[in-house]
Amino acid sequence: MIAMASESAATLYTNARFAGSDKPQELLVENGLFAAIGEDLDKSLPAQGYDLSGVKTVDLGGKLVSSPFCDTHLHLDYVFTARKPGAVNETGTLFEGIQRWSDTKSDLTVDEVKERARKAVAMEVHHGVQYIRSHADVTDPNLTSLKALLELKEELKDIVTIQIVSFPQEGMYSYKGGDELVEEGLKMGADCVGGIPHYETCREFGERSMHKVVELAAKYGKLIDVHCDETDDPNSRFVELLSALAYAEGIGEMTTASHTCSLGSTDNSYFFHLTKLLKAAKINFACAPTENLYLQGRQDTFPKRRGITRVKELTDAGINVSLGQDSMQDPWYPLGNGNMMIILDYVLHLAQMMSFPEIDDALKFLTINGATTMHLRDQYGLEVGKPANFIVLDAPTVFDAVYERCGILRSVRNGRTLFTSKTTIDSEIPLLR
Ligand SMILES: [Zn+2]
Repeated sequence: MIAMASESAATLYTNARFAGSDKPQELLVENGLFAAIGEDLDKSLPAQGYDLSGVKTVDLGGKLVSSPFCDTHLHLDYVFTARKPGAVNETGTLFEGIQRWSDTKSDLTVDEVKERARKAVAMEVHHGVQYIRSHADVTDPNLTSLKALLELKEELKDIVTIQIVSFPQEGMYSYKGGDELVEEGLKMGADCVGGIPHYETCREFGERSMHKVVELAAKYGKLIDVHCDETDDPNSRFVELLSALAYAEGIGEMTTASHTCSLGSTDNSYFFHLTKLLKAAKINFACAPTENLYLQGRQDTFPKRRGITRVKELTDAGINVSLGQDSMQDPWYPLGNGNMMIILDYVLHLAQMMSFPEIDDALKFLTINGATTMHLRDQYGLEVGKPANFIVLDAPTVFDAVYERCGILRSVRNGRTLFTSKTTIDSEIPLLR
């Protein structure tokens, strides 16, 4: 369990390192907000008449301070179901995963989903995550997953921000009444409209679902997050229609295309043309590198495709890309522990983003890019007046953090410490201390 430490009303965090700065920084946290951020606050604030005498001081030891991580694509209702009888995915494909889930989901209960999801949230938070976008499968007349995750979102809001997608795992039009269940999910309180056009039984259904997703988002004022083109088929091009419709509706920045694996298979001339639309629409992309590395390329012999979208090319074009764990031991993926540093490590390798400037800038994929995808920029960041949400990484710089795939030493939310951790090594051998 995550221990809640009580804090005095104001705390001065000293000896922090920020990305791109060599000088120690200080953060004054008061009433759950950042009250001041900068160098030598212990001197400058008293000079301005601020009384620091009752303020608790915490020395962060020169470690890197960052905004908390965002996991922008996760399925909290699926976690820890991989070993359930009938759920084991023999082929390792996306489509067998969907079938296995469909075959085994009828016995879900609200309490059981919440219990599994609660454990997954704790693991994510221990890895520095404070923002999660979770899909909830609504192709279930009882809407059990959605009810469970809506309750959990409220119960855990002091620990983590959870956004929920009303997601038709078995299709909006290929599952009877799927579109109505998605709409019901929005009425019940889901934050985002979901879709899965490449899974629909024919292209026309997929296209119709994109129209419906944008129509529902506009009608209810919701965000959009579509499982889009999660296939190696270069002819799966629903991201084009989704972007064009969102652009026309003026809600591109509220829209996310998750996965878009097919862009890893499509030719350059198509991608060149598409890029103009993506930039104009300002839609977001969410990539789940470990999941899609595992699931895609299953019809290939060799050469075998990498399965992920064009993270580097999208990034270089100024298009926002964030990352997701996607699965934690479910019928699609047998591993996944919520450690976003591993997810980042994979994407840097798979997308070949390892120039030193790219590595030095890599934490953006887990931080500001995630907050952009989640449309939370107004309340996110190390800025005076914003909620005092931050993490302390066990490394002095971004390069060292990425190099070490480092752990998290502290997580603070609304000024309250969620946890602290220490790494200690005991050895009588000097070299190994
Ligand atoms: Zn997914």
